Amino acid sequence: MGLYDLDRDGLTNALSDYPKYRVNQLIHGIYANFLSPQEISELPSALRQELASREDFQPSLREDTRRVSDRGLTTKYLFSLSDGRQIESVLMYGPKSTTVCISSQAGCAMACKFCATGDLGFSRHLGVGEIVEQVITAAREAKSNGSRLDHVVYMGMGEPLANCGPVIESLHRIIEVMGLSARKVTLSTVGIVPGIKRLAKEELAINLAVSLHAANDDLRSALVPINKTYPIAILMEACAHYLSVKNRRISFEWALMSGVNDSEQDAKELAKLAKTLYPAAHVNLIPLNPTTGAMGKGLLAPSKEKINLFSSMLSELGVNATVRRTRGQEIAAACGQLAGSTPEDSLHSKNL
Ligand code: SF4
Repeated sequence: MGLYDLDRDGLTNALSDYPKYRVNQLIHGIYANFLSPQEISELPSALRQELASREDFQPSLREDTRRVSDRGLTTKYLFSLSDGRQIESVLMYGPKSTTVCISSQAGCAMACKFCATGDLGFSRHLGVGEIVEQVITAAREAKSNGSRLDHVVYMGMGEPLANCGPVIESLHRIIEVMGLSARKVTLSTVGIVPGIKRLAKEELAINLAVSLHAANDDLRSALVPINKTYPIAILMEACAHYLSVKNRRISFEWALMSGVNDSEQDAKELAKLAKTLYPAAHVNLIPLNPTTGAMGKGLLAPSKEKINLFSSMLSELGVNATVRRTRGQEIAAACGQLAGSTPEDSLHSKNL
């Protein structure tokens, strides 16, 4: 149990010997100013000392390493959890926004064919505090660099909707307590249909990104095994329901793999599927990032010409597509490359 595991009631209970306004000061200090309790000058020094020594007020993450690339615009953090397991987050500075990509599990059980985290296998779910603390840590770092964290993507290690309870609670915390805009928060899923339905019931109008990668069941089941449980037709129904309830556009993630899902037929199937939603899903094309696991299975990104051709085919078929710029590839921080490793360790990688 760490500092960010406690919600307002938990903090109120933990500080039951103190007046309520001390809880407000504590919450403001840790969620708005990203301070440790000991650094909150409004709190009396006796309380600060007490909190510094209490086990339930300690951080959950210990930074092991950080690796910087893209001339300082991308930083990958490797954190140890209290039980020694490791997870990664990636902080990215852009011209108009600052984004953190966070993990929701240590490892992943989904076994997607092209993914380094999938190669690791599942270790355990992250708790609320471990998820929230990744966002706070990134916000603190961005602030110290004169920037403001404004976007959060749940696209790091793990399948967020396989860890639904803590992930949903973390979403409430970062939106309602930390004050991030729900419109700037995106959750990426391989298509856990009960999780999408549960998310649709929450008062959280966040963006949903579906890691599709194939638009027919045969190919998708080969690339993304969970498709055998929740085939495309059932997944699309859940997406349409989310769209109708939340009125937030859905995006499809498509890791482009040479000779696997980059043909004209693939583009036609994808466009047809994107247009079953209204408005049509936006497609994010992600040239496959190199990973030992993926390359070992013969999976490579198409050439630039082929990527542009695929993107143009989608446009001609009436579907908006963006080719995602690769960030942090040399530090294994790009999409599909999070596996608790560095390029020196391996070229392992995780997914999208
Ligand atoms: S792509 Fe996502 S869901 Fe699939 S194995 Fe990798 S981390 Fe898990």
